[in-house]
Amino acid sequence: MKIPSLMYHDVVEPGQADASGFPGGAAGHYKLDVAEFDAHLGVLAARGPRFAAVTGASSAAATGNGLLTFDDGGASAVAVAAALTRRGMVGHFLVTTAQIGQQGFVSAEDVVALHAAGHVVGSHSHTHPAEISRLSMAELEHEWQQSVDILSGLLGAPVTVASVPGGFYSRQVAQAAAAAGIRYLFTSEPTVGTHIVDGCLVLGRYTLWRGMPAQRALELALGSGMARQRQWLAWNLKKPLKRWARPLYRWVRRSRLERPRPSAGI
Ligand SMILES: [Zn+2]
Repeated sequence: MKIPSLMYHDVVEPGQADASGFPGGAAGHYKLDVAEFDAHLGVLAARGPRFAAVTGASSAAATGNGLLTFDDGGASAVAVAAALTRRGMVGHFLVTTAQIGQQGFVSAEDVVALHAAGHVVGSHSHTHPAEISRLSMAELEHEWQQSVDILSGLLGAPVTVASVPGGFYSRQVAQAAAAAGIRYLFTSEPTVGTHIVDGCLVLGRYTLWRGMPAQRALELALGSGMARQRQWLAWNLKKPLKRWARPLYRWVRRSRLERPRPSAGI
């Protein structure tokens, strides 16, 4: 099953990057300005596929639908959801549950409202660990289960969708998510390919970041041009570095991010 999914984060006013989601320059790289995002939605609505809920994934593959996802659970999710609703699009809002009600993040009422408006609310782990794939199986299960329990408690409905924080996917991360009832798990792997782990459908995503033209979002959604291949190549060139030089990679990453706290984004 091939499904094109796009990964967004927060949408902010110019110069107000820290108003929504995780603060700092590294997270800010993935936050689009309101006007930028509006341009993306305009092009996607006019010429892109239909954006529906992943819970109809088999029909998404059959009809060429795409999926729109928004990581972290920043406060801008409320305005983003309204913009999607106006265009008849469904969004997937993946929430870092430990941040609910904190400065810059959605409130419990927001979570309920997103769900009531017909959007999909899912988990982005409980605490957004810096490298979730390094956790033990017990810690992984706790991250997902606690997050799912909080969201399903708020919504009064099962929570079956999640995304992996930081793009640190491993099979164990998926197995722990599946054990917590997750049936659709988004990674940051730039691919339309999917596979199943313990009954959970694992889906890749293409990343959108600040400054990326609307046309690029359309190319990623449709598979036109070379945008998908470029993201795939960049991602896979980084893989050996991540795998074989983890300590060095962590040091480089920390230095570049200039912050020791859990990181947002891919
Ligand atoms: Zn994140």
